[in-house]
Amino acid sequence: MQIISRAFGIYETNCYVVVLDNGEVIIDPGDGALEWIERVCKNPLAILCTHGHFDHIYDCDAIRARFGIKIYMPRSDAFMSLNDPFKLLEAKFSPNVLVDDKDEIELDGVKFCFHHFPGHTPGCSVITADGIMFSGDFIFKNSIGRYDFPFSDGELMKKSLKKVLEFQNYKIYPGHGAATTLDAERNSLIRWAQAI
Ligand SMILES: [Zn+2]
Repeated sequence: MQIISRAFGIYETNCYVVVLDNGEVIIDPGDGALEWIERVCKNPLAILCTHGHFDHIYDCDAIRARFGIKIYMPRSDAFMSLNDPFKLLEAKFSPNVLVDDKDEIELDGVKFCFHHFPGHTPGCSVITADGIMFSGDFIFKNSIGRYDFPFSDGELMKKSLKKVLEFQNYKIYPGHGAATTLDAERNSLIRWAQAI
């Protein structure tokens, strides 16, 4: 399993491609990702979304149309692809599959699991696969996602931070910025949880 990434759009949102033996899994394709996906992917299998913010889902619909694959989205964020709270999403769309906490999707023999960590958004999730965590806008290197947006919830963020501290170590690929590990972030996450 190989991970490649590129940042797209005004917020430099990381799009990840997980390269498997017989195809690729696309995570959080932002504005302009389609052209890159066409170049780096031979056989895209699915689009997985960590949450519904426009900068993470901008090219979902175009990629789905181009490759005929499904979009998986946390259930509580599905409304954002039809009614973007920031009014910046050009192509409105409905996801194909709405996922809940601990839902697992097997793609080319690898299990991708959604874990629900609400706070940044109602459906905010991380996606784990094979010791790796795609943390979206929940956890960044030395920081966490904002919880002051429309539909954010600080109390839920606090609960989510406490919940993730019970997880084993993972390599973390966040929605913005550099990769890290859960072990490297634990002290920072404890401080954030105390500060909310
Ligand atoms: Zn976000």
